[in-house]
Amino acid sequence: MLQTKGYAVEAANAKFKNFDFERRDVGANDILIEIEFCGVCHSDIHQARNEWGNSIFPMVPGHEIVGRVKQIGEAVSKFKEGDYAGVGCFVDSCGTCETCQADVEQFCQVHCAQTYNSTEMDEKTPTYGGYSTQIVVKEDYALKITDTENLAAIAPLLCAGITTYSPLRKFKVGEGSKVGIVGLGGLGHMGVKFAVSMGADVTVFSTSPSKEADAKKLGAHHFVVSKNEEEMKALGGQFDFILDCVSAEHDLNAYLNLLRLDGTMCLVGVPEKPAPVHAFSLIQNNRSLAGSGIGGIKDTQEMLDYCAEKGITSDIEMINIQDIENAYERTIKGDVRYRFVIDIASLKNA
Ligand SMILES: [Zn+2]
Ligand SMILES: [Zn+2]
Repeated sequence: MLQTKGYAVEAANAKFKNFDFERRDVGANDILIEIEFCGVCHSDIHQARNEWGNSIFPMVPGHEIVGRVKQIGEAVSKFKEGDYAGVGCFVDSCGTCETCQADVEQFCQVHCAQTYNSTEMDEKTPTYGGYSTQIVVKEDYALKITDTENLAAIAPLLCAGITTYSPLRKFKVGEGSKVGIVGLGGLGHMGVKFAVSMGADVTVFSTSPSKEADAKKLGAHHFVVSKNEEEMKALGGQFDFILDCVSAEHDLNAYLNLLRLDGTMCLVGVPEKPAPVHAFSLIQNNRSLAGSGIGGIKDTQEMLDYCAEKGITSDIEMINIQDIENAYERTIKGDVRYRFVIDIASLKNA
């Protein structure tokens, strides 16, 4: 077994502290990644604090993992020692069910082994995430990272990146599409970068007027303060696609009404309470309301390759792992532009 340093919470109301644990030995199809950076996703906070009621403790969060391949199993073909690799939201699945066969392993019908707060395929062995010095993962569930210039800023692509890239592709956003991005946080800022890079005309909707300059800097063409009812009304029936990245309570109908004929709004944020949808918001203009959850390995690799080609990374603020509690508080307040990334060297040297 491989002795590993991590940073863990022991209970929902506990503070993070050092946590030593063991990773499995490198099997024939496994690679060992020495973790260099790990992004801080809002879902880390929900789970560390048991806000979704399904937390397993002790918990080592983190599913935006990048680092260097230190060792490979004898059957590994995709990686060699010294390569850069990433791990996203899951580390295993059955590989044979209908959804795995359709390259959406995140919805595996047998068991999707999530990177943390989950179990391996035996449904017993707990999984520990990227707030740690190393991880052992099957090569089929690791991503190749070719653009290594700004490795820390690539980490958030593994969750925030694929979460926004996947629906933009699925709903065929492209040259000339009129796209709305609702909410300019960790997800939204990636949505803007992707939609702009795909040639769309992009409008950012935000409750805070202070984000206009940032939205424009990220490449958005228009900015709307969503509290301004008149401005919202004036945009009725104009959008092909709206990506809703907001996890706070908000009125879906106000955005659905902005969709033109056959337009789609896709949800990627998770507000705590269900939101009412008026049937007429959908019936008018034959609109669709959709959802999208991260992305499979194939799509995630495509997204990383696309980012390398287009020079797209996340906007980040680097922290030492000892600052994680403060980073959580600031993430909750939306006081980060746009993703905290942990420098894992701060854990190795702790
Ligand atoms: Zn995430
Ligand atoms: Zn499966």
